[in-house]
Amino acid sequence: MVARRLGSADSYGGYRSDLVDILREKGIRDLAVLRAVSMVPRHLFVPAAVRHRAYEDSALPIAAGQTISQPYVQARSLELLRLTGQEKVLEVGAGSGYQTALLAELAGPIFAVERLAGLAQSAREALEAALVRPVSILVGDGTLGWRAYAPFDAILVAAASPEVPEPLLEQLAPGGRMVIPIGTHAVQELTLVEREGNTYRRTVATDVRFVPLLGEFGFRS
Ligand code: SAH
Repeated sequence: MVARRLGSADSYGGYRSDLVDILREKGIRDLAVLRAVSMVPRHLFVPAAVRHRAYEDSALPIAAGQTISQPYVQARSLELLRLTGQEKVLEVGAGSGYQTALLAELAGPIFAVERLAGLAQSAREALEAALVRPVSILVGDGTLGWRAYAPFDAILVAAASPEVPEPLLEQLAPGGRMVIPIGTHAVQELTLVEREGNTYRRTVATDVRFVPLLGEFGFRS
């Protein structure tokens, strides 16, 4: 859990609770997820030019042609992971760091990987400004996972992949859950992968559109 926080007193608190209402209306039921959205100052994770839109339920442009994902899709992904507060989590594609912050509210130690060094740095700064507890962000190819800290109880992939990267299957702990958008560049299915022993069960949640996962086990750029 977060040691220090802005609290609901910052001037965006009302917008955040409106966003929580929208997510609830769209079917998000997990109270811990809704609470995390009500706590994390999303406006600190978006560029100044789009700050006035920070609490719309839409994806927004961040640096380097990437996007901060739509809050509904992030909330749905987190709900699918069914986090209870203790899990060791791997996040692939930290981007703005906003979903990293939500994960920090919902789980145990968070290990995030981001391919672009500039985004990793601005994510670190935003996480610090948002008073989120320390999380580790590695610059590198997240399709390889983060072997030093594996296995992970939960893995959240925030970029579109043609298939589940093999290293991520290996690094998911038995009993663990992974959420990943699987499909083409144009459209993907948000897929839950549950590991039981060495069996992996897949369930499709909804159609989504993410930027591509570029790397050895993702799309080749
Ligand atoms: N959850 C983030 C999503 C950012 S978009 C947010 O809401 O801000 C997806 C991110 O995945 C981009 O920042 C992109 O640079 C990153 N990415 C793409 N391929 C990657 C890879 N192989 N390893 C790590 N990050 C990757």
